[in-house]
Amino acid sequence: MALEVHMFPCLNDNYGFLVHDAGADVTAVIDTPEVEPINAALAEKGWQLTHILNTHHHFDHAGGNEALKTRWGCTVVGAANDADRIPGIDVRVADGDRFEFGTTSATVLEVPGHTRGHIAYYFQDDGIAFVGDTLFALGCGRLFEGTPAQMWSSLQKLMALPDDTVVYCAHEYTQSNAAFALTVEPDNAALVARSAEIDRLRADGLPTVPTTIGLEKATNPFLRPNSRDLQATVGMEDGDPVAVFAETRRRKDHF
Ligand code: ZN
Ligand code: FE
Repeated sequence: MALEVHMFPCLNDNYGFLVHDAGADVTAVIDTPEVEPINAALAEKGWQLTHILNTHHHFDHAGGNEALKTRWGCTVVGAANDADRIPGIDVRVADGDRFEFGTTSATVLEVPGHTRGHIAYYFQDDGIAFVGDTLFALGCGRLFEGTPAQMWSSLQKLMALPDDTVVYCAHEYTQSNAAFALTVEPDNAALVARSAEIDRLRADGLPTVPTTIGLEKATNPFLRPNSRDLQATVGMEDGDPVAVFAETRRRKDHF
């Protein structure tokens, strides 16, 4: 375990993440939702910012790029196929690229759907993934620029990671996601138990992030279009996974 991850709140419900490799003294921030808390976190840890790793172009993910780059002279990494929307981009990465980071590396996964250029960073040696707004604890990102088929294929890429992969998603949306998930899979015992645990954590003001791939596969309705119970709830028994996923997403949009 070479990497240290430091997580802190930004804006209303975003998380900022610093990733530090002590062996090489490099520090990345995953997205730049808000400059002040990122600089405060760096000061608290005594780390120098060397990299910005962007998952996508939205303002609550890349809005602090320019200010942080000016302050730190750091290297900005983002999706090659969305480079014109990533402020200050220096390194353009694409699906399957291995981005060298200190003594380790991250594999880039293209996961379009929320935006057309969304990417995730998978640090395989440490078993951790930063998934931006593609996968949330008990949820998934809204389909602003992609089709259900695209998003389902992106989610399947993440589901193919080992079950114990630690997943850092960019927002604290879990409690409202749980309320929706229970409407489509009310008899999922793992989901019911998890929802109670989420309520306890939130009552104590604690985060529900990170999660794991295994936990999401067991409880997240957007990863479960093959669940018979979910198919029955949305009236699509034996439905095609893309169609069931699309209907689940549509219901969440109107929840
Ligand atoms: Zn977004
Ligand atoms: Fe976001």
